[in-house]
Amino acid sequence: MPPLRFSCECSQVQYEISGPLPEVLACHCTQCRKSSGHYWASVRVQDDQIKVISDTTLAIYQSTDMAQRGFCTACGSTISWRLQGRPGLLLSAGCFDDDLPVRLTGHHFVTEKGNYYDLKDGLPQAERFDYPADPSPAPSTEEA
Ligand SMILES: [Zn+2]
Ligand SMILES: [Zn+2]
Repeated sequence: MPPLRFSCECSQVQYEISGPLPEVLACHCTQCRKSSGHYWASVRVQDDQIKVISDTTLAIYQSTDMAQRGFCTACGSTISWRLQGRPGLLLSAGCFDDDLPVRLTGHHFVTEKGNYYDLKDGLPQAERFDYPADPSPAPSTEEA
């Protein structure tokens, strides 16, 4: 898969993202709704999948004591979300310039979703955020 282009609205933050990509997740928590304006769709990638083309306007906001949000200081686009102590980070699905090869697979934190919309796409709904499993080189047989 050729790298996918990723950029904020003003294009001062630009990445190239190499595959593979896992899935698109939607989070309906209060922080995601406030920072994105609605609910936030994201794709989890590992740091070594990101090639930075430009990020001089990128700023990091300490969203909670466990999580950091990346955003563009020029245009305000939400770029990323990183959970402390876990590898990788989540990137805004809406900032990909190229078509994503993966689909939205579920809704998270639906307990905090806005009251002005319904979720009727039939996808799984989690009460909290089920952080995607860490990628492992070999399939695990352990039951969590
Ligand atoms: Zn920007
Ligand atoms: Zn959220």
